[in-house]
Amino acid sequence: MRSFKLCTCGAPLEFREDATPQPAGTEVLLRVLAAGVCHSDLHLSEGYFDLGGGKRLSLADRGMKLPLILGHENVGEVVAVGPQAQGVRIGARMLANPWIGCGACAVCRRGEDNLCRSMRSLGVFSNGGYADHLLVPHPRYLVDIGDLPAERAAPLACSGVTTYGALKKVAATLRDEPTVIIGAGGLGLMCLALHRAMGGKAAIAVDIDPVKREAARRAGAHAVIDGGAADASQQIVDATGGGAWAVIDLVGSSATARLGIDSLIKGGKYVIVGLYGGDITLSLPPFPMRAIAVQGSYVGSVIEMAELIDLVRRTGLPPVPVATRPLADVNAAMAELRAGKVVGRVVLLP
Ligand SMILES: [Zn+2]
Ligand SMILES: [Zn+2]
Repeated sequence: MRSFKLCTCGAPLEFREDATPQPAGTEVLLRVLAAGVCHSDLHLSEGYFDLGGGKRLSLADRGMKLPLILGHENVGEVVAVGPQAQGVRIGARMLANPWIGCGACAVCRRGEDNLCRSMRSLGVFSNGGYADHLLVPHPRYLVDIGDLPAERAAPLACSGVTTYGALKKVAATLRDEPTVIIGAGGLGLMCLALHRAMGGKAAIAVDIDPVKREAARRAGAHAVIDGGAADASQQIVDATGGGAWAVIDLVGSSATARLGIDSLIKGGKYVIVGLYGGDITLSLPPFPMRAIAVQGSYVGSVIEMAELIDLVRRTGLPPVPVATRPLADVNAAMAELRAGKVVGRVVLLP
């Protein structure tokens, strides 16, 4: 099996050839058809998240062990199954849900693997899909994509379910009030598309980059706002008719968190998804007095992944621009993403 492995944090991924793993127990072996490159692969390859104030969250401390094959947005074809893997057909084209918990605790039994305290996520804590083969521990983490194109379906595994999970957290106002989406990169365009597929009223996209604002406008945003403008918060308040009921922050920096929370209406909710990093200080009285909510959202549950694929098979694939490149270009693709040069998604083909 050929793969690109993270061997040293901060260094390029290294090409390796190893024996192809054989599935045991409930495991399923996929031949990788497509693997999306996600912004969090950059954090993983650097080995830390920025906590602000000079503090770092080390991924080694959280259980990431090297060498590791990155890649958590994978579609593959089933080529072998373990003796206890039930209900999977050789040749089926499957999206691999990478957000895998221990599988045994009460949280996992509810299908909320993404909140398990012992996660084994593919491409994060166990080997992912920057390879020609991928081992998945159980059929419950596979979703049949039917005849959806592999390179268009792969980003649903992270970009898709992450934005779907965030949109579900503001479902109470989704159809009746505008939703503000901060960040119009790959995640933002996916969020805009799913917002529409879910029957959302109007989406207001915020980004500091005019190219990304224009992409958001073409993707159907009701309004676009320059998040770097001195009066950005007032512009959001005006565009939402008095303040936002729902802000989804796909950037997650000190500046965007401040902007998102300042733009809320009484009773509004700020959902933070992005892992750019930083910190902010908040006055406490406005929380009860304005009855605002701040909620973090981490990827999505096993149930949300199944709901998402069902939604996409009914309403069509999100029209997010996808560029394909050979797997061998993985380091160049990550460098371009780091430089902010990618509009939409890059998907690697082995
Ligand atoms: Zn991701
Ligand atoms: Zn668990």
